[in-house]
Amino acid sequence: MRAEIICVGSELLLGDIVDTNTQYLARRLSGLGIDLFFSTSVGDNLNRLVDCLQRALSRSDIVLTTGGLGPTDDDLTREGIASLLGETLVVDESLAEHLRRFFALRGFEMTENNLKQASLVPSARSIPNSRGTAPGWWVEKDGKVIVAMPGPPGELHNMWETQVEPRLAGVGAAILSRTLKAFNISESRVDDLLKPVTPACNPTVAVYAKQDGIHIRITAKAENLGAAAVAIAPVEVQVRRLLGDSVWGADEDTQESVALAAVAARGLSVAACETITRGQLSAMLASASAGGASFLGGLVMPYGEGDTRSAAELASLARERFASDIAVGVAGQPLPGADPPMDQVNVAVLMPGGASASEAVFRSRRQLVRTLGAYYALHELRRLLGHSG
Ligand code: ATP
Repeated sequence: MRAEIICVGSELLLGDIVDTNTQYLARRLSGLGIDLFFSTSVGDNLNRLVDCLQRALSRSDIVLTTGGLGPTDDDLTREGIASLLGETLVVDESLAEHLRRFFALRGFEMTENNLKQASLVPSARSIPNSRGTAPGWWVEKDGKVIVAMPGPPGELHNMWETQVEPRLAGVGAAILSRTLKAFNISESRVDDLLKPVTPACNPTVAVYAKQDGIHIRITAKAENLGAAAVAIAPVEVQVRRLLGDSVWGADEDTQESVALAAVAARGLSVAACETITRGQLSAMLASASAGGASFLGGLVMPYGEGDTRSAAELASLARERFASDIAVGVAGQPLPGADPPMDQVNVAVLMPGGASASEAVFRSRRQLVRTLGAYYALHELRRLLGHSG
């Protein structure tokens, strides 16, 4: 089963808006196991729209359109489909009545051009739109399907999830992905370590470099989501074994959420004091703690060349100030002679009781040191607490 996406709207081609609808639909199709080979954006022009629809129908089984379902003259998706099929638009009285009620409820008068949104062609059935005035269209002709949906992302997502996806589910196989996340290891090293698992074609294992580390995506295609999850499980175990302690999380995890979860799981609290990361570590911990009691606070000190305070001293300051169980200090200094400029980041973690202080060193390009240094501190914290991601 092949699908194709056509996004309609001159705004897209003028660069006024970013096409997030394609990204959304592409992800949803992949979750349904429906192949997507083409996607197009086209302006509000009837001839070009019909041309795109024609080409899409000649090579795909399902054509998904977004946009162009509004009431104005330049909303042409219905006209385009009607022209392609050689069918005539007719106002559907029950859709018109529904629209009148929609406007009356909101205290607006319905104008004549809104009736356009109540029209259908014989091959089309309407798809309810609980978020807006434009119903979608489900069109079936000669074994092919066209699904026309509204452009506003909120309306599209709602229509897709409640109306369209349930009709398409079961059409293809299911595709499921699991993403493991590693840090303080290079992409090439990960690639090398994963040689035993990367040649397989189902599940596939792909490696991506991201700012918060290396992502390893395991993707399985199976007859349903349960079977895909079963196929992924042993590969995940193998990847974790090959990469060891560098794996810090999976899927939606962030370094800060995982580190704070490790602290909270032990019923402990943490505070930070930082220079070179300029508040980034505290900001990340604060945004991840969302009212939880495990992060007590952060101190941000100026970072400068003559700064001789060690990371352990900074950690002690944080503990004194916030009386936390754990304290993290982040200091640093420039690496002489590095081109482009680089910095060394020193992280110290004082564990409960104050006895154990671990100090670790990380090097980063100056441009990225604020964020990467904070990630490194979070990674150390999680690792020292023995928390597996
Ligand atoms: P309406 O009934 O609101 O007129 P419509 O189906 O006619 O909806 P358009 O008029 O084409 O949709 O687009 C309305 C708005 O939806 C755009 O201004 C834009 O904000 C958003 N939108 C449209 N297409 C996309 C897209 N591909 N990606 C992201 N947003 C989009």
